[in-house]
Amino acid sequence: MTIWTSEPDQFHTTGICPWCREARSLSALTRAVEIENPKRLGIHGPIRYRILRCNSCLSGILYEEYEIFVIGYGKSLQKHLYPSNLPVPVDERIPEDIRNPFYEARLCFEHHAHNAAACVARKALQRLCIKLGASKEERWLSKQLKHLVENGKITRESFDLAMAVKIVGDEGAHLEDVSPEDVQEALDLLDHLTDRIFIRIPKAKEITDRAQQRRQEKEENSGNA
Ligand SMILES: [Zn+2]
Repeated sequence: MTIWTSEPDQFHTTGICPWCREARSLSALTRAVEIENPKRLGIHGPIRYRILRCNSCLSGILYEEYEIFVIGYGKSLQKHLYPSNLPVPVDERIPEDIRNPFYEARLCFEHHAHNAAACVARKALQRLCIKLGASKEERWLSKQLKHLVENGKITRESFDLAMAVKIVGDEGAHLEDVSPEDVQEALDLLDHLTDRIFIRIPKAKEITDRAQQRRQEKEENSGNA
């Protein structure tokens, strides 16, 4: 049996927003709805649901609460937010065609699909190579990476990181199962690579360009004086 509670819509709480992945203040959009006598094991009393909104990203979240009995402690209120298991979002500054498979790889990893995560991380890496000027016609990822390092598009250090991501991706696609630890490392390396190429290097260039512009303006002004 489902009962709409009569309490006014004033419910607020804090929790990790599944979308922001940060502690946020959350406010109710609806009154609570209760499911009485749920058959889920260990639950005492009704399960109460509300739809909340994250006050930061404004996304909707399903909130569930119920009580359980803990021996030697008594009643304990349990709170859950859904969707759960969402991965950390990939930075918006990373181009979409790389960001999407990278996010997909994180999503696979959060759901323990490690071989799939390794393969999709490799796909994101290959798209990164093409974005930096590697040939689409060249089907071997190792040759694309070699081309980039030889033409100064990536450093030797980035090449080594990328090769590790590629190797884990190859393992994910072939006969043996890949280890979750290796996939976690590969995703960290891909994060490091994309952060360096699409965020830090452009940011450093921006600072240098601005400083150069200021210097130039100063020189022009002193020349005019
Ligand atoms: Zn949020």
